[in-house]
Amino acid sequence: MIIIDGVLLSKGKGGVYGEKMMKGFRVWDPYRSKYAALFMIKKDDIKEVSLDEDLKVLYLGAANGTTVSHFADYVSCVYAVEFAPRPMQDLIEVSKRRKNIIPIMADAENPREYAPFMETVDMIYQDVAQPGQAKIAALNLPFLKKDGLLILMLKTRSVDVRVDPRTVFLDSSKQLEESGLKITDACWLEPYHHDHACIICRKM
Ligand code: SAM
Repeated sequence: MIIIDGVLLSKGKGGVYGEKMMKGFRVWDPYRSKYAALFMIKKDDIKEVSLDEDLKVLYLGAANGTTVSHFADYVSCVYAVEFAPRPMQDLIEVSKRRKNIIPIMADAENPREYAPFMETVDMIYQDVAQPGQAKIAALNLPFLKKDGLLILMLKTRSVDVRVDPRTVFLDSSKQLEESGLKITDACWLEPYHHDHACIICRKM
């Protein structure tokens, strides 16, 4: 991956969401993207979650395509699922400028809606800010190859605002393990995103 002077970059055409440019590359801001935050936090040990051109990714919670557009700069194909109409309009515009983004307007809780458009993928990246985030991940596991990677960005306050974020993290981790996943790593996304954890798993 491209890092210059400690800044994570990607090499596509700029002007997607007003991102800064640096030495001809797009700056991937850790305050705007949880993947970039993860990268900055784990930068000495990033091998497992690195992106490369061999990867096909199912991205759940694409929103208006900010992070999706950076993924698309690195990987071969991004299936980008979003259910809200307004961000979907932006995502479609982003997809028109990048040939390897497939925008899918659907509910990630109902993967049957998009199963006809899917192939199996190497990675699922999930950032849906909803209750039942571990359940949504489990529902989408049929799309993930054996030994494939799940990166779950867990917004603990969306699961239950009354519960301590650490308890939400432990409960969600348990649910992921009960779904047949092996948790290989986890971290909090402080100082970039408060009360957000990242849970990294492999499909057994
Ligand atoms: N990942 C985005 C980024 O980094 O640019 C930000 C995602 S935002 C925190 C969460 C998004 O998930 C929202 O756009 C929301 O509409 C979408 N979302 C929430 N639940 C969803 C579901 N069940 N199916 C599809 N999209 C969902």
